[in-house]
Amino acid sequence: RVKLNGKNDFMLFDPSMNEDIQRKASLEQDLKLAMKNKELELYYQPKFDLELNRYDGMEALVRWNHPVRGFIPPFEFIKIAEESNLIIELGTWILEKSCRFIMEYNRTHHSEYCVSVNVSTIQLLNENFEKTVLSILESTGLNPAYLELEITETVFMNSMDTAYEKLKFFKEKNINIALDDFGTGYSSLTYLKSLPITTVKLDKSFVDDITFNAISFGIVDNVIQIARSIGLIIVVEGVETNEQLQILKSLRCHKIQGYYFSKPVPEAELPLVLSQYH
Ligand code: C2E
Ligand code: MG
Ligand code: MG
Ligand code: MG
Repeated sequence: RVKLNGKNDFMLFDPSMNEDIQRKASLEQDLKLAMKNKELELYYQPKFDLELNRYDGMEALVRWNHPVRGFIPPFEFIKIAEESNLIIELGTWILEKSCRFIMEYNRTHHSEYCVSVNVSTIQLLNENFEKTVLSILESTGLNPAYLELEITETVFMNSMDTAYEKLKFFKEKNINIALDDFGTGYSSLTYLKSLPITTVKLDKSFVDDITFNAISFGIVDNVIQIARSIGLIIVVEGVETNEQLQILKSLRCHKIQGYYFSKPVPEAELPLVLSQYH
């Protein structure tokens, strides 16, 4: 925050030092308005099931089109939202909108797609989170089996017990839980089997060089086989080429997500994208 000198109303700040802080403060303000002004939109990226040879769901990804600054990538404003606790309101909005959307989409298209929604660690650990999820499922009428919550390993770093209890609660309600960005943190294959999750999403960084890096290939191979052996669904993110797709297929990966099939698209474009493999 910019400090004002009471006497002269004189601004005391070093421009170079405060640029970041100012941008953050002003984005925080703007983000509050953005939620009201409908500058936020959800895009959806389809997820392809390699065994069924068709799409089986999609991930909701938030987009912010700022009236002045233009497109702001989610990693930037999600972080700001987390630091200011706006993430609770934003996350609830995203969850509600995704559930309502998939419910309506499935109804009008006679489909059975599942929607995956990213859940920030702060959001998951919030004491009201379970209540929020259940009330959204109730008000939208969505079958919990068509909802997947994507969480990251950071939820286990400080609050293992709380996170574990919460995930167990959701799993018992038949809600799917995916561990996102697997392989980027302190991921351990041994703890996978003890977590109340249904899916592992292997991070894009492993698939990037899978066609020419034997180490990446080996890691992906192992993660897929271990995930399978403990009964988890394995999704690989960031698949961009047919070559990568063929390798993942040969390694018996369950599902893939990536630009090879489709970038995240706005609601209106989904029917056309999904109709290619249904
Ligand atoms: P994520 O959940 O791991 O989402 C996957 C990201 O990879 C998305 O970026 C997606 O557009 C991108 N991606 C998918 N396939 C490809 C590919 O083939 N090539 C490349 N280069 N990229 C691909 P996006 O939408 O920019 O989101 C980035 C991150 O921001 C997400 O990573 C997630 O951590 C966060 N995020 C996005 N939407 C939400 C949200 O609604 N709530 C929360 N809490 N976080 C969100
Ligand atoms: Mg995700
Ligand atoms: Mg990811
Ligand atoms: Mg990510």
